[in-house]
Amino acid sequence: MKKALITGITGQDGTYLSELLLRKGYEVHGVNRRQLSANIAQNDTRCIAASSSNIHLHYGDLTDSMNITSIIQKVAPDEIYNLGAMSRVKVSFEMPEHAANADAIGMLRILEAVRLLGLQKKTRIYQASSSELYGKALETPQSETTPFYPRSPYAVAKLYAYWIAVNYREAYGMYACNGILFNHESPLRGEMFVSRKITLGISAIITGQQECLYMGNLNAKRDWGHAKDYVEAMWLILQQPEPEDFVIATGETTSIRDFIKIGFDVLGIKIEFRGEDENEIGYIKACSNPNYQLPIDKAVIKVDPAYYRPTEVDMMQGNSTKARQKLNWTPKYNVRQLAEEMVLADIRFKLNMTDNKKSHFAG
Ligand code: NAP
Ligand code: GDP
Repeated sequence: MKKALITGITGQDGTYLSELLLRKGYEVHGVNRRQLSANIAQNDTRCIAASSSNIHLHYGDLTDSMNITSIIQKVAPDEIYNLGAMSRVKVSFEMPEHAANADAIGMLRILEAVRLLGLQKKTRIYQASSSELYGKALETPQSETTPFYPRSPYAVAKLYAYWIAVNYREAYGMYACNGILFNHESPLRGEMFVSRKITLGISAIITGQQECLYMGNLNAKRDWGHAKDYVEAMWLILQQPEPEDFVIATGETTSIRDFIKIGFDVLGIKIEFRGEDENEIGYIKACSNPNYQLPIDKAVIKVDPAYYRPTEVDMMQGNSTKARQKLNWTPKYNVRQLAEEMVLADIRFKLNMTDNKKSHFAG
C-alpha cells in the first residue's frame, strides 16, 4: 500500500485528492493545523474522507520546520502533495510575510526534510504551483515556457516554491514537480474566491436572503476548471518516469461578468449589465423559471471598489498541451457545468440553512 502525505488536506483540493487516493488504495496522511470538527461538519466529502480508517491526520503547520520534519520522518511517505498555503491573493497583500513563510519557505522545509532524512530516492514531491506565477502575462495562452511575472505577495511566494522545487530536482536528483494549475473551483471552494462568492450570492438572491451582490473587477478573466479534474492531474504528475512540470488548464477563458451571467442562466434567469467601471450594474432582464419571483429590472449586481486589488492579474488562459499529450489528461467539466454544479449545491446549502434555522427556532 502506497503512503501519501498531503499538506492542506482540509482545503478544497486536499479533500478531493484524499478521496481520489483512498479510492486508489493509498494510506493517506494529512497535515492539519486545527481542530477538524468545524470543517467536517461543512460538507459530506470531508466526512467521508475523515471517517475512513485509511486516513490519518497529524497536527502541523508549514511554518514549523521541526514539526514538518518529524511528520515526514514518522510517515516516510511515497508521495508528498504540498497543497498547504495561505491561498488568498488579496489577503496576501495584508499578510505578505506570512504568505512568504507558509507558501515559499514551507516548500523548502519539505524538500530539506526529505533530503536530510535520506528519503530522496523514495519520496516524490508535488508542489501546488499556480497560474498566478504568470501574473501580468507576457504571452497568451500561457504554457510551461511562458516567463513568469508575479503580481502579488502570494504569487511571489509561489515563485520561490516553484524554483526551489526545480533546484532540488536538479541539484540532488529529487523527484520534485510543479503542477502549474489554473483556477479550479467546486462546491468546496473557499467562500471568498470569486466563483464561490458568485454562486453563494446567486443562491442567496434567488432564495430571497440577499438583495444584491457587490463585486470587484468584472473585467478580469480566468481559465476555470473543476477541482475534481485537477487533483487527477496532480496524481498523474507524480506517476511519470521522470519528474517534470506541467500546466493544467481548460484553455477556455471567461470574464467575471460572464461567469455571473452563466450562474444565473443555468437557473433560467437572464442578466443584463449596464454602466461602466464602479457604476456598472447587473439587472434581471428575464426569468423563465416559475420557481423564482424576481422583478424585471431589479439591480442584483453592483461594484464596490473595495474589492479591487493593488495590482491585478487581468487575464489567464492556459495551454495544457503537454499534460494532454504526456499525462493523457483532459478535463471533464466545462465552465457552464462547473457553474451549474456550484449554484445548485449552494441553493441546497442556503435552503438547508433556512430549514435548520426554522427548526432551531421552532424547537
Ligand atoms: P484552500 O482551499 O485555501 O486550502 C488551503 C489549505 O492550506 C487549507 O487546508 C489550509 O488549512 C492549509 N494551510 C494554510 N496555511 C497553512 C499552514 N501555514 N500550514 C499548513 N497548512 C496550511 O486551497 P485549494 O484551493 O485547495 O488550493 C490548494 C493549493 O493549490 C494551494 O497551495 C493553492 O495556493 C494552490 N492553487 C490553487 C488553485 C485554485 O484555483 N484552487 C490554483 C493554483 C494553485 P486550514 O483549513 O487550516 O486553513
Ligand atoms: P485568484 O485568481 O487566485 O486571485 O482568484 P479569485 O477567485 O480570488 O479572483 C479571481 C479574479 O476575480 C481576480 O481578478 C479578482 O480581482 C476578480 N474579482 C472580482 N470581484 C471579486 C470579488 O468580489 N472577490 C474576489 N475574490 N475576486 C474578485
